[in-house]
Amino acid sequence: MRDSNADNVVDQVWSTALDKITKPGDLPSGRPALGDQMDLAAAQAGTAALLATVPAFNKLLYNSGYAASARNTYLILRRLGMPADFFWKYEQWNPKRALDTLDKIVSKVFTTMLSKQHVGVLKLTAADPVTNRFEVSFESCAECSGLHAHDPMCFFHAGSFAGMLAAMLDHEFDAWEVECVALGAAACRFEIGERTDRQTQTRWGRWADEFTYAFEPAARFQEDLDGETVRELGETVDIGYYQMLLASTVLTNMEVVERSCLDAGRNIGTKLADIVRERFGADPQEAVPAFYRRLRYASLDVTGLDSGEASGFRVVVSEAPEHLGVLESSALVPFLSGELEGMLSALTGRDLALATTDVDGHDLVLRYAPS
Ligand SMILES: [Zn+2]
Repeated sequence: MRDSNADNVVDQVWSTALDKITKPGDLPSGRPALGDQMDLAAAQAGTAALLATVPAFNKLLYNSGYAASARNTYLILRRLGMPADFFWKYEQWNPKRALDTLDKIVSKVFTTMLSKQHVGVLKLTAADPVTNRFEVSFESCAECSGLHAHDPMCFFHAGSFAGMLAAMLDHEFDAWEVECVALGAAACRFEIGERTDRQTQTRWGRWADEFTYAFEPAARFQEDLDGETVRELGETVDIGYYQMLLASTVLTNMEVVERSCLDAGRNIGTKLADIVRERFGADPQEAVPAFYRRLRYASLDVTGLDSGEASGFRVVVSEAPEHLGVLESSALVPFLSGELEGMLSALTGRDLALATTDVDGHDLVLRYAPS
């Protein structure tokens, strides 16, 4: 069951992203200390961990991307003043005109938005109005650059691109990924066909049903902290992309994935503890904030609570994308709170658990106590 309130938040995140391309000059950053960009590795970790651990999360990611993109593409086209029957009798257009016209709109809105957010470089590469088959390529893909997989893994973008065309042409489409940067390709490439088409169903079904993935957070973060180049578009991404990804997938499915987010976060935090200790020192109160600042993910203030057996930590989190702007009231923090739980436990060698979550002004206050 979809939560329409959550859908509203998703739409607000989209609308903020659009404002950045339609309004002249830069809008004031929501993050005075950290700025609008965060490390790509930090933006990838949550969904990568869920893809690796939660059965059928790939389909949830796909469907969430599809729904948000279709809804917002429709709103964007109306906002651009395009009449609802713009693509009337589209199936009778010649392929060249179809490709040119579609490509113009895709470039004007989506390619611009995604490039501006450093999410990737989108290109519509083929369009056949007779068979309703399309192809898009996506270079420097934020979803998978720097990750390694055996199966194409960009389900969020596949869903988003299918949803985009669905809203433009008023048909139901599905997209499946045929080449992926995570498998060594130069760009991710997607084929798109009508949902009622037998071949579409077979290709999409095979991709989605047979998908398996293992996520190695330590390797990915090691590479990021070493400053290695994983894509041409750079090693950071706009926080608006991360907010869009989280809001579409986690917020609209909170009751299904909240526990999994906490577990996945805890697992990553545990696995990253060695790296954090090695690079930022043995004192969690110093090392943990240094790590998150280095990732441009959040500003943290970690204080030890010394009361004998009950000692734990109080963590004040500022400027985390999941608790910022339109997301500030959504309590979208299970992943981050789990990650801190795992990291603090592993760094101290004690079993700590999240005890309370509070909001103090724009900040989040998390308290960890022995479990
Ligand atoms: Zn890919």
